[in-house]
Amino acid sequence: MVTGAAGFIGSHLAHALLQSGTIVIGVDRRDPATDQIAAANLAGLQGVPGYMHITADLLNCAVDPLLVEADVIFHLAGVPGIRPSWGPRFTEYVASNILAAQRVMEAASRMSVPRLVVASSSSVYGPTSGGASVETDHLRPASPYAVTKLAEEHLCLAHAARADCPTNVVALRYFTVYGPRQRTDMFTHRALHAALAGQPLRMFGDGHQRRDFTYVDDAVAATIAAATAPNATGAFNIGGGSSASLLDVINIAKSLVGRDLQIHQEPARSGDVLTTRANPARAHEVLGWQPQVDLHNGLRAHMQALAQPVGYSAAA
Ligand code: NAD
Repeated sequence: MVTGAAGFIGSHLAHALLQSGTIVIGVDRRDPATDQIAAANLAGLQGVPGYMHITADLLNCAVDPLLVEADVIFHLAGVPGIRPSWGPRFTEYVASNILAAQRVMEAASRMSVPRLVVASSSSVYGPTSGGASVETDHLRPASPYAVTKLAEEHLCLAHAARADCPTNVVALRYFTVYGPRQRTDMFTHRALHAALAGQPLRMFGDGHQRRDFTYVDDAVAATIAAATAPNATGAFNIGGGSSASLLDVINIAKSLVGRDLQIHQEPARSGDVLTTRANPARAHEVLGWQPQVDLHNGLRAHMQALAQPVGYSAAA
């Protein structure tokens, strides 16, 4: 079962699983009949043999019947995004990132599903000194979103630590995932879109913020490895190894379209840390995973997909 299957990463994951011959039940509360983004994300999945889509809210749907033959739950459903988490939408973050995870985890345990892979986030680290974060580092989440992701990760791991829980949990701390069908609020999407359309780009802060950009195919490969690696348990950093600043992304976007990009700079927003950088050693050692796509090739594939917004283009 893939939760959040109508979302950015979830739809790529479901597609990759189907390609490997796995039967997938996708669950998402966004209804493709009424939600254009969900419809676009699911376009390559609907009607494919082996894929069944359920439109349901994990906060109140019956989860057990969906897990009757499940070997793995990929729990990617959630409300992402740092900035909106400061406002009145916080209750939505708590509901979808914590309460829904609790329901999914309880159902996993009741139905004896052997493994649950849960989407956590690099944001759980909070501000760092600029060095690479290791899973054992002290965690200082700096936004309400990050607090809910840390709670989600710890909640699932707490269930798994119970002597009577048959479900093993792997929490993946994704670092800034980008690629085709990326959420439109994310910086790389906005930068590439602005470059293609010749429109100004709104940038929060001076652009020197650095991120460990992870191409979506690499994030998906790590997620599948997390489901199958025999001894995997606990938290893993999933960082693409492309440490770059927002200005670097802008420069690549400009070079890809061959023209300048007008920037509208706005003050940095609370909770946006200066640097995220993954130490990926544990994922390499235990999951046998290594990112394959560098930032330039990844952004090129992302831009090609934006220019022709249908399909599942690879960055190779
Ligand atoms: P997304 O918004 O594209 O996908 C999330 C999906 O979850 C959405 O389709 C949404 O409808 C669904 N959902 C939310 N609440 C639900 C509920 N209660 N019941 C059923 N469905 C629900 O986001 P994404 O970028 O694909 O992120 C997927 C996961 O990865 C999220 O948990 C996010 O926190 C995490 N993550 C993403 C990134 C990134 O860079 N994209 C980085 C770190 C962590």
